[in-house]
Amino acid sequence: MGVLSNKVILITGASSGIGEATARHLAALGAHVVLGARRTDRLETLAADIAAAGGSAHFQALDVTDPASMDAFVVFALEITGTIDALVNNAGIMPLSPFAALKTEEWNRMIDVNIRGVLHGIASALPVMKAQGFGHFVNLSSIGGHRVWPSCGVYSATKFAVRAISEGLRMENDDIRVTIVSPGVVESELADTISDPGARAAMQAFRAVALSPDAIARAIGYAVGEPSDVDVNEIIVRPVATVE
Ligand code: NDP
Repeated sequence: MGVLSNKVILITGASSGIGEATARHLAALGAHVVLGARRTDRLETLAADIAAAGGSAHFQALDVTDPASMDAFVVFALEITGTIDALVNNAGIMPLSPFAALKTEEWNRMIDVNIRGVLHGIASALPVMKAQGFGHFVNLSSIGGHRVWPSCGVYSATKFAVRAISEGLRMENDDIRVTIVSPGVVESELADTISDPGARAAMQAFRAVALSPDAIARAIGYAVGEPSDVDVNEIIVRPVATVE
């Protein structure tokens, strides 16, 4: 019996990076994990790996920008398990660029995935959690949600927004736990979405020292594993060798 035995935990963006590591870690701690992302081939492999290791995982295609898709994801989880203990709003993209490049389509996509995606998760899961009288949102912000660098203006705006949304949600609900997780640089596919050559080169240097996504998975495991009267409000996890 792990510390998360019988907990049902939904994870958005579970097909790579932090979401995938979190799925493996929480399942190893005994949670039933429900995995969502667009690349279902990867989710299928991940769910099979978790099952082979003795864990419990289900998956469904999810586009967090679509409220109907998020609703369907939550309904899918409820039909299997009958309850939702936590939703990890992890899906995110980071196509960085300077404002002068006018990559307005990428600005809008970041807003759609990183902000609206989190709001859609809240809209779909909050009524379920309120009816249960318990629940936990773990929302992925970033060190970019604490400060701004050149080429990071819109990305940082989305991650500041995640922190504002999370704080408001926490203060309005005395029966729902809300945790903000703000990672520093972590190995993942996140920088692959950068199309601007200058921002891409700058990020390669910035991301030279990176944590394993397992470090963030452990932080999330700690927050969800605390007793139900404990709300871990925010966790910042950086590599030791970070100087900013
Ligand atoms: P990855 O690129 O490895 O993973 C991002 C995940 O988001 C993928 O599983 C992807 O799945 C999913 N995703 C993207 N768009 C959508 C969508 N429309 N609907 C559903 N899922 C979507 O990056 P990370 O693991 O690093 O990122 C996870 C979170 O951590 C993000 O919110 C990121 O901003 C945050 N973060 C990461 C840091 C880092 O250095 N890695 C630092 C600080 C914060 P698919 O494409 O299959 O849909």
